[in-house]
Amino acid sequence: MQEIAKTCEQYVAHTYKRFPVTLVRGKGAILLDEAGKKYIDLGSGIAVNAFGVADDKWAAAVTRQLTTLQHTCNLYYAEPCAKLAEMLCERTGMKKVFFSNSGAEANECMIKAARKYGEQTGRDTIITLKDSFHGRTIATLAATGQDVFHQHFGPFPAGFEYAQPNDLASVQAIADAGKACAVMLEIVQGEGGVRPLSGEFLRGVEKLCREKDMLLLVDEVQTGNGRSGQLYAYMCHDLSPDLVSTAKGLGGGLPIGATLFGEKVQDILTYGDHGSTFGGNPVCCAGGVSILERIDETLLAGVRERSAYIVGQLEGAKGVRSVSGLGLMLGIETDRPAADIVNECIRRGVLLLTAKHKLRLLPALNIGWDELREAIRILKEVIAG
Ligand SMILES: *Cc1c(COP(=O)(O)O)cnc(C)c1O
Repeated sequence: MQEIAKTCEQYVAHTYKRFPVTLVRGKGAILLDEAGKKYIDLGSGIAVNAFGVADDKWAAAVTRQLTTLQHTCNLYYAEPCAKLAEMLCERTGMKKVFFSNSGAEANECMIKAARKYGEQTGRDTIITLKDSFHGRTIATLAATGQDVFHQHFGPFPAGFEYAQPNDLASVQAIADAGKACAVMLEIVQGEGGVRPLSGEFLRGVEKLCREKDMLLLVDEVQTGNGRSGQLYAYMCHDLSPDLVSTAKGLGGGLPIGATLFGEKVQDILTYGDHGSTFGGNPVCCAGGVSILERIDETLLAGVRERSAYIVGQLEGAKGVRSVSGLGLMLGIETDRPAADIVNECIRRGVLLLTAKHKLRLLPALNIGWDELREAIRILKEVIAG
């Protein structure tokens, strides 16, 4: 029974503090552990399993590609990569896509593009926000505006300065120094505590970017691909970013990252500037195509409906201090410590996440209503204590 957990603890590096649950399979929003116990999943593997576990259409598309051509290097053309790039551009108005394998890599590419843009005018600073999270590589850690991430691994690359979220004056102050070539932000700060940035702040940053010839970089690794109730969260605020990074939900459970280039920077990276052996992998891209073609208006309306249901159930409920977020990316501040609630929910068959001191819900975009109602009923009882 405990064998898998024991082996994992012995041989896998201890960078994750795991819950005492060994998952073996599932369907949709239902997961099963090795003892056959059922869980309703409100975490989707951190916003990755966009349509839940073992979704039929997605699995068929991925399997078809897997048994046809599992990999080509980027020296040749292949259909899934071409098709996914075309879909991403047509759905966003962006002009080019670079594929990688994770959120951090999608951000690395975005940072490189911004640096090369800045090179033309002698500016190399990228303004990011306090409480942001942009990844675990050395450069994306430097971009991350949280001191806890800036321990142990220095020296970090220079050229990142941190402004206060929802405080335009603090962005302006750094921009006024004349060294900044870009502003990089999440529309909802996910790991930072599911904190949405205000539309007023975001539009102010965009305007400032235009005035100061800075690029607007939006990290949609977590907020992207339908999670916000729009295809990308920047669309909730009618923004026109110059670069967009995304990952998590895009592959529906397969590792893929994408950096989208707007018109102004569509040709900024040229032959040899960047690359990735696995980037644009046909199986991952086939998964992405299957996910993206189903994120239509009906699906998005369903995300917004489920979101409104959860917020309506939890706001003002006993033990709930606040509910924040966008779409199916919700943070809940509770009277009881979040970790206690998560552990009790596990016992009662509901999986959820935390972000900072909050509970974090990231259910599958199409989670069944019966499952959602049942999970929220249990969650409310546990929160009430
Ligand atoms: C998860 C996340 C990342 C890092 O993605 P990885 O795939 O873990 O590298 C970057 N930015 C944001 C906003 C994220 O939520």
